[in-house]
Amino acid sequence: MNYHQYYPVDVINGPGTRCTLFVSGCVHQCPGCYNKSTWRLNSGKPFTIQMEDQIIADLNDTRIRRQGLSLSGGDPLHPENLSAILSLVKRVHAECDNKDIWLWTGYELAELSNEQREVVDLINVLIDGKFVQGLKDPSLIWRGSSNQIVHKLR
Ligand code: SF4
Repeated sequence: MNYHQYYPVDVINGPGTRCTLFVSGCVHQCPGCYNKSTWRLNSGKPFTIQMEDQIIADLNDTRIRRQGLSLSGGDPLHPENLSAILSLVKRVHAECDNKDIWLWTGYELAELSNEQREVVDLINVLIDGKFVQGLKDPSLIWRGSSNQIVHKLR
């Protein structure tokens, strides 16, 4: 997996203070996409074990308490990203106490493959669906267009 940006302290993408990762790779090609540069899987930088360690350390950093981890992109549920994302969310569960995981995807919850569901089974909130320009609404929280749904899973 490649990634574009990692913010160790972020108050924009999800509730509270968070760590946020924007991964590379998206097949959805939504007109009006806010993050077109992330579409190519090989754009950005390689997501290394050192980056994974850094995220775990930041989530456990008691000097700035993080509420959780936000995963966006690109699409964290792109089939090529699943093994790296699954490994990361499993580590968050195993090594970080009481952190929530939010994930943004262009896929819809009902259409997810078994492999994508393995990741979704380990997260707290899924914001799903493509961005639809005609349904864009700046007053929405955590989503860009009204077709997208904030699923509070657990
Ligand atoms: S799913 Fe998100 S990143 Fe992918 S094309 Fe649509 S708006 Fe862009």
